[in-house]
This record gives sequence, structure tokens and C-alpha cells, in this order.
Amino acid sequence: MTIITIDGPSGAGKSTIAKMLSKKLNYNYLDTGAMYRAITFAMLKKSIDLQNEELICKALDSIDLEFSDNIKLDGDIIDSQIRSNLVTKNVSLISSYKCVRDILVEYQRCFAKGNDTILDGRDTGSVVLPDADFKFYLTASVEARAKRRYEEYKEEREDSYNDVLEDIKRRDDFDMNRDISPLIIPNNSILVDSTDMSIDETVEYIYNHIKRKDK
Ligand code: C5P
Repeated sequence: MTIITIDGPSGAGKSTIAKMLSKKLNYNYLDTGAMYRAITFAMLKKSIDLQNEELICKALDSIDLEFSDNIKLDGDIIDSQIRSNLVTKNVSLISSYKCVRDILVEYQRCFAKGNDTILDGRDTGSVVLPDADFKFYLTASVEARAKRRYEEYKEEREDSYNDVLEDIKRRDDFDMNRDISPLIIPNNSILVDSTDMSIDETVEYIYNHIKRKDK
């Protein structure tokens, strides 16, 4: 059984790369960011004051989320809704609450138990599974990350490149400076800077690293 974690800031391409790697290696894949987004969406839908940590913690018991190939809330698929601007703007606050992290970290550890698994997020190699077999920290310059996100969503959204850049800087700052499980480069992880690499090159680089060490 092999566990691979990929952490890093917003827009570094973690999810795309982790998904491609999981197919190439035939591993299970867990997008932990999507889970924090799903809880944020559920709280917004219930109109709960997101600043009120106590209310958010109480409401966790009453939300019916399912994480499988699709993410479902009360049985409805919410894969696209969790990528909305409103969720993106609020997800860092919700993911800074301990009660939210405790529930999701436990789920993530169970998911990885006994299976070849790739997880991506902010704390998968530092907190969730610090003894993972391969830990990567994937980053790129903030401008390169904003450009990728902008290109990805420019048909669907009205945000300018500068809006995306400001949002990424804000989330970097929030995720790196929160008290619980801040985004850090995990111990014994391999740093991959993809500023000048394509997605395919980055996948190949990580894949080759795993295969070299696996032998
Ligand atoms: O990866 P993605 O951009 O979808 O993550 C959304 C947000 O979820 C991040 O900005 C971060 O605040 C939070 N997150 C986290 N821990 C993780 C994954 C995501 O706090 N393991």
C-alpha cells in the first residue's frame, strides 16, 4: 500500500495533477479542498453566519454530505456549486475552524486506510498523513498560479486577471497564517516548482520520482 500527498497553495495545479497521477498509477484519489468547499457551500445554503464558529460547529451534525465520485448535499450533486466565487471567498474562513478540520481529517485518514491513495490539499503531508510514502509540495509563482486559474474560468466568470490574483494572494495569506494546520512545506517533502513546467511535465516529473524510488 502506498500513500502519496500533494500539498501547496491555490492554483498550483494540485488537483489536476493528482487526478492524472491517480489514473496513471491506478490509485484512489481524494481532493481534500473539495471537502472544505462542500462544507462551506452547505453552511451558505443554510444561511448560517460564517463568522460564528460556534454555530458552524453545531450545524455540522445536521448536514448530509456524501463524498464519493461526486460530492452530494442532501442527495444532490454539488460538484459545480462548490467552485462558485462565493464559496471560494469563504472557504478559508470555514477551514480555519477546528471542529471542521477534526471531522474532515478523520474522514481523510479512514479513506486512505488500506488503499493505494493520492490526496491533495494544504495539510495532507503535514497533519493528515505525515508518514505518507511520498510527500510533494507543489508550488509556482503567484502570477503563474493566477494566470492558470484565470484561463481555467474566464469563459464562465467575469473576474479579471487582477481579481483572481488578489483572491489567490488573500487565500495564500489566510491559509499560511492560520493557527491550526497552516499551509507549510511538510517535513521530508519534495518541493516541485511548476512555474515553468506544463501540467504534463509536472505529472511526468512526479511519476518518475515515484517509480525511481519504488524499485
Ligand atoms: O484546493 P482548493 O483551492 O479547492 O481548497 C479550498 C480551500 O480549502 C483552501 O483555500 C484552504 O483554505 C482549504 N483547505 C484546507 N486544507 C486542505 C485543503 C483545502 O484548509 N487540506
